Formats: sequence, structure tokens, C-alpha cells
Amino acid sequence: MLISEDDALARLKVGDLVALPTETVYGLAGLALQAKTVRKIFELKGRPSSNPLIVHVNDVSGAKNLAEFNDLAIRTCKIFWPGPLTIVLPKKDLIPLEVTAGNQTVALRAPNHPVFRGILDRLKQPLAAPSANPSNRTSPTTAAHIAELFGDKVPPTVDGGVCTVGLESTVLDLSSDRPTILRPGMITRKDLQLALGEEVLLAPHIIQGIDKIYQTTGAQSPGMSDCHYAPKTPLFLHAGTKQLLESAELSREDLIIVCTAEEKNIIEQKDFSCLALSISGNGEEIAHNLYSVLIEADKKKSRRLHLIFSQKPEGQNRAVFDRLNKAAVRSII
Ligand code: AMP
Ligand code: MG
Repeated sequence: MLISEDDALARLKVGDLVALPTETVYGLAGLALQAKTVRKIFELKGRPSSNPLIVHVNDVSGAKNLAEFNDLAIRTCKIFWPGPLTIVLPKKDLIPLEVTAGNQTVALRAPNHPVFRGILDRLKQPLAAPSANPSNRTSPTTAAHIAELFGDKVPPTVDGGVCTVGLESTVLDLSSDRPTILRPGMITRKDLQLALGEEVLLAPHIIQGIDKIYQTTGAQSPGMSDCHYAPKTPLFLHAGTKQLLESAELSREDLIIVCTAEEKNIIEQKDFSCLALSISGNGEEIAHNLYSVLIEADKKKSRRLHLIFSQKPEGQNRAVFDRLNKAAVRSII
């Protein structure tokens, strides 16, 4: 059901959940300081209670009574907020442990979408808002996706158009001595290092995820145990058109997803069905289209999805690769 911003505000005030647009993906929003509401978010998503939520505010002043800010955190927010960057800081007592999955740290973000910001302004309270999808499934980047993903459990939704970024925020841990990226996003390690003038680390699980997928041939990807962002149709990753076309895994009932116009040409010449994530392989363009193409691909009811990802997992493509790695059942890279 689509609702107005006024209606969303009224529902949020009484502790109900609504889906709201952000520039990254649509969020399933509820009052962050109300444990009962926070529990409803976990329930509707089927999200494990061990997976903490991001708390959304409009600016640093709105966040200062929620977390212990240090100088670097204030500087980071001045540069990157509002925008697709979440920071993790030691939490203050106001934040219920339900939000942080029992952790003493809290994740905070100021989204850059006029609808979300307008609602935060009028509500004068922070909102917890994980992606508006059932846990582990593809994230929604349009209001229509939310209805498709939730079926008869669809939350009331404010339609704010297509999400401009299309991929979840970069998560940067600023709670310890060394700034560390916990989840790669469109704001890259290089962007952060250049702007902050400090070395920024990548969490070991990000590096290991990438190494694993490049080292294993035909082995199970970490996506199998750590399944996330996944379409219903099994998704297989490949390093290039040649590997895919020679693969014993490929059949005529499969759908192939590519990242460049050149790959699309090659695949279509062989008479396979094909969807493209971008023309040139640019990370920002691939990220913008990734979830909508996966959701569209799911609707075609193919036997399998094969995604050719020949880009280096660096810069913005690191974030794309991180999501693909988790969404794929198996990597044949
Ligand atoms: P989502 O809301 O679905 O985009 O996911 C939020 C993600 O933010 C979680 O899965 C964690 O990776 C990260 N996150 C949230 N809170 C914390 C926290 N307190 N410490 C570390 N990471 C967090
Ligand atoms: Mg999510």
C-alpha cells in the first residue's frame, strides 16, 4: 500500500513501521528509541536478532545524544553527511540494546533523501531503518520492489522514486583507534583516506571474501554460508564470457547478466537471454542497477542466473563484488 508522507509520520509516531526511500535503498523505518518497535522490524524482516540496525538522523547534532563522538567522527560527518556513509561509535544509554544486537556500539547515518529527511525533521526522533526486504533477499530500490519482495506482508510505503545510489551505505567503524571499513559501499576507502588524511583499514572479512572467491575454482563461495542480497533463482558468478560459455553449468534455460555492452554482444550472438547492468563496467552504474536487474531476472523464472563480473574488485566495484559474493550460491571464477 502506498501512503503519503503525512500518513507515514502519523504511523511512525504511534510505533508502527513504514517503508521509506533513501538514496541507498528503501528502508523499513520505525522509532529507534522504542524497543517494542525495533522488535517489530526484526520480526517483519525475519532478521536474526544478532544483526544490528542502523539508526538514522539528520545531522551530527541529532546524533550527539545517541553516541560518543570523537573528533574524527565529527570531521567525517562534516564531509560525508548527508550521504551513503554509516559510522559506528560507542553508544549512549538512550539507544536500546535491541537496536545494536547487544553491542555497546551503534551505527549512525544521515540519509540524503528529501522524503526521509523531511520525516526526520518533523518527527524529531531517530529512526532505525534496515533495508525494506525480507532478511537475506535482494534489497529494494523502488517502491514496487517492496511489494514484490514482501507479498501480502508488504509494509505501508512512501514512494520516493528510484534510489539514486542503489547499494547499501559504506559502514565505517570509528569506535576504536584505527578507522576500519566493515562494509564496502560507494564511498570508497580511497575517498575516505583522501578526505580524512588518515589510513583507513578494510575489515579482514572483506579482504578474505575477495581472496576466497579468486582462489577457489568450482568451490562453494562464502555466499553459501553467509547468504545475503540473494535472488530466488540460484546465482552463479563467472570471471568472463569465455569461462561461462565453456562452462558445463550453462544451459539454454539460464539467464545471463553482464556488466558491459561488449559482453552483451558476445552473449546475444550465441542466442542466450541477457540482461546488462551497465554499458561500460563503471562501478557506480553497476551498483545503481544491480538490485533492480536481479529482481527483474528473478521474475523471468529461469533455471539459473549467471553473472559475468570481469571488473577488478577495487574502488566502487569492491562494494558490488562484496554483494555479489554474498548473493551467489556458487562462484565458478
Ligand atoms: P542494513 O540495515 O540491512 O543495511 O544492515 C546494517 C548493517 O550495518 C549490519 O548488517 C552491520 O553490518 C552494520 N552495523 C550496524 N550496527 C553495527 C554495529 N553496532 N557495529 C558494527 N556494524 C554494525
Ligand atoms: Mg539489508
